[in-house]
Amino acid sequence: MAESASTPSLEPDADLHRRGLMFILSSPSGAGKTTISRMLLDADEEIRLSVSVTTRQPRPGEIEGVHYHFVSDVEFDAMIEEDDFYEWAPVFGHRYGTPKGRIRTALKQGQDFLFDIDWQGTQQLYQKDQQDVVRVFILPPSIAELRRRLEGRATDDMGTIDARMDRARSEISHWDAYDYVVINDDVDSCFAKVREILHAERMKRQRQTGLIPFVRELMT
Ligand code: 5GP
Repeated sequence: MAESASTPSLEPDADLHRRGLMFILSSPSGAGKTTISRMLLDADEEIRLSVSVTTRQPRPGEIEGVHYHFVSDVEFDAMIEEDDFYEWAPVFGHRYGTPKGRIRTALKQGQDFLFDIDWQGTQQLYQKDQQDVVRVFILPPSIAELRRRLEGRATDDMGTIDARMDRARSEISHWDAYDYVVINDDVDSCFAKVREILHAERMKRQRQTGLIPFVRELMT
């Protein structure tokens, strides 16, 4: 026999349509992930950026609390000590981490989060929370195009670009640890595909626990 809508086992999710999801976008640097992330955040009001903590210096135009929380090595050490991170990893000689903040509570309330993190962070988040994580990997259309895009960035010198190319190849080797892979040969179509993934993932039955009472009513 079907349980009634007031069954205690439905608490505390009974008023929700669904749990939030942890939407991870990874790619080698220069593949367009940052642009796609910004487009997604602009276009979709239900998703918020998980602002990472980093020990690297801000680049021109980057704002504290918007793009990153910029901290010293000592502050980063203290956050590790306090168990403040979901995950953290060394990247290009600096450290990057996802602060726990109020993510867990907000997920329960249906808030989606976008994570712009590398494969190491993705692995750690997935190990902790397979239910909520969606892993999307963005590939460049070719290695030559990736180099061209990196060279177009005025902020990096040649040594840094070579280091980023090496790292790009190594990052690409982890593509098979993702649920979805999208090639960014055209930014608008890549964005449209990423958005489709987000929309489809939101409709997964397992996330829509809040619909249980509604569906039960439909069946009576
Ligand atoms: P950038 O310095 O270019 O902003 O980022 C360098 C790399 O660090 C990117 O691949 C980016 O995805 C990754 N990254 C940024 N934030 C985090 C984080 O919180 N955790 C991990 N694991 N990687 C991050």
